[in-house]
Amino acid sequence: MNKPSSNPSELARETLKTLAARKVPPTPDNYAKIYAEIGGATTEENNGAEKVLRAVAERLAQTPQSAPVGIALKKVVGTGDWKQCLKEIEKVLPKQDGESTQSWSDLIRDLLRQLEITHKGLTITRKKEGLETVLNRFGSNPENLFEKLSGLVRSWSGSAAANTMEIAPSSSAEPFASTTAAPTPGSDSEMIGKLSELLAQTLESILSAQPELAQEVQTLVQQVRSIKTHDQVTSLAKQLRQFWIKVELRGGDKAKIHEGLVRLLRLLVENIGEMVEDEEWLHGQIVILQEIITNPIDRKSIADAERSLRDAIIKQSMLKQSLNDAKTTLKSLMTTFIDRLGEITESTGDYHQKIAGYSKKISKSSNLVELSHLLDDIMQDTRVIQASALRSHEELVGTRKQVNEAEEKIKKLERELTQVSELVREDQLTGALNRRGLDAAFEKEATRSDRSQTPLCVALLDIDNFKRLNDTMGHQAGDKALIHLSNVIKEALRPSDSVARYGGEEFVIVLPEVGLEEAAATIERLQRELTKKFFLHENDRVLVTFSAGVAQRTPEEPQEEVIGRADKAMYQAKKTGKNRVVVAE
Ligand code: GH3
Ligand code: MG
Ligand code: MG
Repeated sequence: MNKPSSNPSELARETLKTLAARKVPPTPDNYAKIYAEIGGATTEENNGAEKVLRAVAERLAQTPQSAPVGIALKKVVGTGDWKQCLKEIEKVLPKQDGESTQSWSDLIRDLLRQLEITHKGLTITRKKEGLETVLNRFGSNPENLFEKLSGLVRSWSGSAAANTMEIAPSSSAEPFASTTAAPTPGSDSEMIGKLSELLAQTLESILSAQPELAQEVQTLVQQVRSIKTHDQVTSLAKQLRQFWIKVELRGGDKAKIHEGLVRLLRLLVENIGEMVEDEEWLHGQIVILQEIITNPIDRKSIADAERSLRDAIIKQSMLKQSLNDAKTTLKSLMTTFIDRLGEITESTGDYHQKIAGYSKKISKSSNLVELSHLLDDIMQDTRVIQASALRSHEELVGTRKQVNEAEEKIKKLERELTQVSELVREDQLTGALNRRGLDAAFEKEATRSDRSQTPLCVALLDIDNFKRLNDTMGHQAGDKALIHLSNVIKEALRPSDSVARYGGEEFVIVLPEVGLEEAAATIERLQRELTKKFFLHENDRVLVTFSAGVAQRTPEEPQEEVIGRADKAMYQAKKTGKNRVVVAE
């Protein structure tokens, strides 16, 4: 900013420059502000006055009688139209003596005069029609009525080209031609009659809207109809003015405000179900209602709120279906993406974040347009990743199918194997019983032994130096040796005896109905048999010997215990030279 100058013309030039530089519209106010600014003065004065006016407006708005003026004043202060501000304030200032009546009587006098004067392009019928329109439209608002009537008169006088006096043609088009009285056409008394009739009709129309004012209206109507002179008009004007205010504030506005509020409330209650689905939207409506409640309530703000609420509800219900559809589409889209995300290895961290961001936006959005934009963004961001997701998804599905098939096959085989195994009770190499066969045989004999209290013995046989045999003759020879031994045992034993291959080169023999001694003798007999029946390997006679332990089962003794005792005895046999039979204790 340049140094303040005191030269007015310099200041003016500088002000214009600044206006242009700041691209501020060159209104008188802006000019004055910048002028003051450059001149070193502050705009405090101006702002201060504005502040005061706003405070005045606020105060006026708080009392019902002056509320309309307060609200109007607030608006006018905002526009900076100070002339209009003054006009508004004057409405509530105490009237100077005769001021109010003066203006109405002046107006009516003007009106009558202008009605009769010949105006270029304006017939008296046209003027009366204009007057009737104004009275119909603004008759319920005295402030407006006054202003509009003044405007009307001004517009007539504006086109004034008064030359000759013109008598109004008495045509049927005349809307309020009086048939009752027949004063001289165009005279003051005729016009007063017509006007007062209009006024009376207007007053009566209030009755339908405000029945509680019936008494007052009737009185006024009677007075209006009896008007004959200017003086009577003057005195009635004052009463009318007060009455209008009453109608406007106590009657009209209050009733309408109440009605409006009830309607608003009903609208809210009826649509609360729709609203709660969309919290953000509901919040918006609550803000509107709060504004209405905190500001002085007037008919217009209620009507505005009602309209916006109704519009919003209609729009909401129309959008709801498509909104839900869009949301559902998005949701399923998102679900698909998220399902596939696990399969994507690269750049997923970034993508996850984005998706989280989108989720947030989607949950906040109640706007279909916004949602569809979001959808576009998501599509854009995920086009590449989606393709690879689809590919890997397909691959995974394929692999998964194969795995499933393989698993099925394995399970089937396992099932078959179990079934088969359960059937098998024989050792595949030697044809002796296997462990399962031994269990069954032992169980059967143990039960019988317990039941019949007959002895039951077991013998555990272990081939001597079998490892050496394997090592010198080969594993296959070892196998054949095992088969040979098994056959020798089977041949030597009684059919009721059972022989089982217990481990690699160990056999268990179950000997029912024999005592310990007899059992031991049987095993020893086996040993002898083996010395007679040689195992032949590549035409070589090979002597196969074994060591054995024999144990008699005590009543109820389980299999493991009795075999364990036989095993210990067998171990003793090994320790004491092998190829022996030891009896367990
Ligand atoms: P010991 O006189 O002390 O019993 O000595 P061992 O050599 O007989 O006993 P060891 O436990 O040291 O060796 C047993 C051998 O039996 C080891 C293993 O190679 C052999 N063997 C176990 N099962 C089979 C089989 O099914 N076939 C063949 N060929 N050999 C077997
Ligand atoms: Mg062994
Ligand atoms: Mg052995």
